Amino acid sequence: MSFKLHIETRRLSLAHTWTIARNSSDYKDNVFIALEKEGITGLGEAAPNVRYGENAALTTERLRAVEPYLAGSDFFQYENLLNGLYERITDQNCAVAAIDMALMDWLGKALKTPLYKIWGLNPADAPPTSYSIGIDQPEQMQQRVREHQNMAVFKIKLGKENDREIIEAIRAVTDRPIRVDANEGWKSRELALERIEWLATQNVQFVEQPMPEDRHADMIWLKERSPLPLMADEALHTGRDIPRIADGYHGINIKLMKSMGLVEARRMIHTARALDMQVMLGCMVESSLAISAGVHLSPLVDYVDLDGHLLLAADPVSGLKLENGHVRPSDRPGLGVDFLQQ
Ligand code: MG
Repeated sequence: MSFKLHIETRRLSLAHTWTIARNSSDYKDNVFIALEKEGITGLGEAAPNVRYGENAALTTERLRAVEPYLAGSDFFQYENLLNGLYERITDQNCAVAAIDMALMDWLGKALKTPLYKIWGLNPADAPPTSYSIGIDQPEQMQQRVREHQNMAVFKIKLGKENDREIIEAIRAVTDRPIRVDANEGWKSRELALERIEWLATQNVQFVEQPMPEDRHADMIWLKERSPLPLMADEALHTGRDIPRIADGYHGINIKLMKSMGLVEARRMIHTARALDMQVMLGCMVESSLAISAGVHLSPLVDYVDLDGHLLLAADPVSGLKLENGHVRPSDRPGLGVDFLQQ
C-alpha cells in the first residue's frame, strides 16, 4: 500500500507590509504538505505563528516525526487518527492543522465529493468575508479601502495610540460596516472601554481581543459594560478553552491553525452555540489552500474573516472564487484547490 508525505516550506510575500499591534512582517514561511495514500493525494498547509511559539523548522520536524504513525493509519477513521495526533504533537498546532486538512482533502477525493457536501453544508449560506487592513499611515489604510471597494466589510487593525485617527480616516472613505481587532493592544480596561464606546458610534460590528489574553478578570468587567460584542482570538485555541473564557467574551474567533484543523473547529462551533456565543472563522496569512479548508466550514458561522490569500503578493494555489465579497469553494472533490504550475 503506497504512502508518501511530501513537506515543503514556501515563502509567501505579502502585497503590503503587514502590521498589527505587536509586530510587522513582509513575508510568512508556511509549510505545505502532500499526503499520499492508495494513489490519492491530500493537500495541507501550516501557517506557523510566532505568537504561539511556532516556526517552519519545528513544524517540519513534528510532521516528519509522525510520518510512521500516518503511514500505519486508516485515513477513513480520521477521528481516531487525529486523537492520536493531538497526543503526539503538542507544541505546533499548525502542523496538526496541515495534516487534518490534508486528511479531509484526501477523504473528499476518495469519495469524489467536495468537503462541504460530505458535511451537509451549502456554500451559499456562508456570510461574506471581511477584508483586513493592517496598521499603517492613515492615508495608506484609506488607499487599501479604495482598492477593495468590492468587499462587503472591512476589518481594521487597531491597538496603538492613534486608533481614533485611523477610524476617522477609514470612515472618510467608506460607510461599509467595519470590525476592529486590537490584538491585545489596550492594556487598561478603562482605556479599552473608552475606545469601544466611541467605536460603537462608528458602525463597528464587534471588537476582537481588546486586551491581553491573560487579563480575564478585566474582560469580565469589560463585557458587562461594552456596547459592542467582544470576540476572543488570542484567548483561545481549542474547544477546551471555550467554557473558561465564556464569561469574558460574546463570541470566539476560530482559526484552523489554533484549533489544529477542521475537525476540532467544527466541534468548537457546536460548543460555542451551546454556550450561546457568536462564532467567527478567521485565518492567519495563508494561501488559498488553508483558506479553502475554512471556506468549506464557513456556512456554519456568523462572521467570516477568510482573507489571508487576498493579502499575498502572489497566491501559489488556485481554486477559490471571490464573488460579491464571498469566498466560494470550487465544486471539485475534497478542498477543491491545487498548486499553480510553476
Ligand atoms: Mg485577531
